[in-house]
Amino acid sequence: MTIAPLPLVRRREELAIRTHCPYCAFQCGIRMADTAGESVPQIQGDPHFPVNNGQLCIKGWTSFALLNHPQRMLSPLVRDVRGGELREATWDEALDRIAEAMRRTKAEHGADANGVFGSGALTNEKAYLLGKFARLALGTANIDYNGRWCMASAAGGSNRAFGIDRGLPFPVEDIAGAEMVVLVGSNCADTLPPIMQWFEKQKAGGGRLAVVDPRRTATARKADLHLPITPGSDLALANGLLYLALEEGFLNRDYIAARTTGFDAVRATVLGYHPAAVERITGVSEAQMRQLIRWIGAAKSCMLLTSRGPEQHSKGVDTVHAWINLALALGLQGKPNSGWATLTGQGNGQGGREHGQKADQLPGYRLIENPDHRAAIAEVWGVPADSLPRKGKSACELLDSLGPTGGIRTLFVMGSNVAVASPDKTRVLNRLKSTDFLAVCDAFANETTALADVVLPVFQWAEENGTMTNFEGRVIRRRRTVRPPRGVRGDLEILQDLAERLGHGHQFAFENSEEVFDEFRRATAGGTADYSGITYAKIDAQDGVFWPCPSKDHPGTPRLFAERFHHPDGRAKFFAVEHRAGGEHPDDAYPYFFTTGRYKEHYNSGAQTRLVQKLVNEKPRPMLQLHPTVARRHAILSDSLVTLESRRGRAEFRAEITSDIRPDTLFAAFHWGGRDAANALTNAALDPISRMPEFKLSAVRIVRVA
Ligand code: SF4
Repeated sequence: MTIAPLPLVRRREELAIRTHCPYCAFQCGIRMADTAGESVPQIQGDPHFPVNNGQLCIKGWTSFALLNHPQRMLSPLVRDVRGGELREATWDEALDRIAEAMRRTKAEHGADANGVFGSGALTNEKAYLLGKFARLALGTANIDYNGRWCMASAAGGSNRAFGIDRGLPFPVEDIAGAEMVVLVGSNCADTLPPIMQWFEKQKAGGGRLAVVDPRRTATARKADLHLPITPGSDLALANGLLYLALEEGFLNRDYIAARTTGFDAVRATVLGYHPAAVERITGVSEAQMRQLIRWIGAAKSCMLLTSRGPEQHSKGVDTVHAWINLALALGLQGKPNSGWATLTGQGNGQGGREHGQKADQLPGYRLIENPDHRAAIAEVWGVPADSLPRKGKSACELLDSLGPTGGIRTLFVMGSNVAVASPDKTRVLNRLKSTDFLAVCDAFANETTALADVVLPVFQWAEENGTMTNFEGRVIRRRRTVRPPRGVRGDLEILQDLAERLGHGHQFAFENSEEVFDEFRRATAGGTADYSGITYAKIDAQDGVFWPCPSKDHPGTPRLFAERFHHPDGRAKFFAVEHRAGGEHPDDAYPYFFTTGRYKEHYNSGAQTRLVQKLVNEKPRPMLQLHPTVARRHAILSDSLVTLESRRGRAEFRAEITSDIRPDTLFAAFHWGGRDAANALTNAALDPISRMPEFKLSAVRIVRVA
């Protein structure tokens, strides 16, 4: 693959290259001065990108620090014996070793014994090519990705209710016009800071904001109403609010009759959610529930926005359904400045879940078990439909199947630090160690590369071209702004090199990322996530294009559902859902809820942000948030070293004593490995539909205070 010349977008007022932040799904527009590759450019927020309007958070401002970082890996690394040291190797040696391991694994154990693990940080082009590589070059069913741990429950609920899954069914600017917004389990003031400008505009226009969260977060402090909910009870709250909406006469019966199916079963179910019962389950008072539903019912427009708080549970999909049910019963979905939506987390969490790196999916949000969908992709790829593998294992199940007993003997990881990001991480570490062969592509050494047999050093965000799809469903350009250092390669090139070695080079013959995109958009034609009318030139001309965009003369679709939903009958579906306990619940042995989240200074497993000195200075370690009553009970002082234990492992944190958290709940961020690893405690209890693990609810005890 040749490297295209640096594409410049020159504006009259200044010379700058427009691209996007490497981290979260907000994908803030940034501008980088053109240095012709001579030095690392400084970063500005792009005032012309209509999502962030020039604002960046501290991660965005400091993201350039990664580009010439002294710890950058600049050569492939190989390990001659397990337990031995990694040593530098040539690209040919490293790639030959991976290809040989994949060939040997397939010959000795079958095609499905090769596993592939992708990432919600990969560009659309990479996600597409990784899925194609797994299905064609390896012939394995077992490909999944870390987005399964981010978006899968919202995606499951949205697909079932609306027939389509796009995080926001409207542009982010619509938030400013909503009279009422309810944020459920989102601390977006820390996780997507520039989004707060839209809530500030909404409130300046007379709108109200309510936040549902076990903690009084930075976001909750901005709210008109904070509901400090018991972890794992968001479903019961939504059902309870629908009960009250029925009682107070807020239902939109014309909308329910004209645009939905299945309400009667939901109505029968929520009649069991009397406010007194809901108060017992959720810890939210009846008075607060009534206040909230009256604000919602009186508002001319209302958004219900969920995030990882209610979604990362073993009942995540059902919880999403409960909030969607409320939106449908009130006639909100498809109405201007209204409706349920979810705030996506990872940089390409949206695009990464649409184009084939999920175990059950093919490009264009097609389903791998659907014969028509298989035939459409097989035609684009020039192979018989029955040669495509069937549905494989989801992320947690894939990792839990590593090694001789589980059957996946070789694992190829692209852009995911699974050793930190996975729930019950000690079990995952042991599984990774039990593989016959582990290969990892990343720009920096991390807890996963430390276990690998081969490590391939790859381009970073500002060194590559491609597209991302932000949390609104807006497809945007990632532009190459600096030259990569000698010794590293792009992920696309690596997939081509490996495919060539496995005898499939002809199916991966692309000159550049735009050629990959051109095949990819053809593959999406007619699919739910139809990108076929999107081109690089159109993205440049329109500041991004919202999918679906089914033809070259189609402008894209910023707003969904105004006329119809995406089920064949055009109607949205209600699903009757009941509250149920999580995978575990506090008891005498493990008396506290433990829940996890993110800091504004760090991103996911911290593999990048823990290398940026300014971010480390600001937030060097995870703190354990606990209520003063817990502190008194265990003689914990501020900054005491507290050891927590769950049924799966232990972790140590410094204490942060605060009344901003419920007395029954402890919180820590999950950006660290080793003894600081919150994911040593978390529970891999899976949602039956989305296969989302229960990051947000574990039972723990305090075993030592120092
Ligand atoms: Fe924007 Fe997210 Fe980057 Fe922060 S991390 S600058 S919110 S894209």
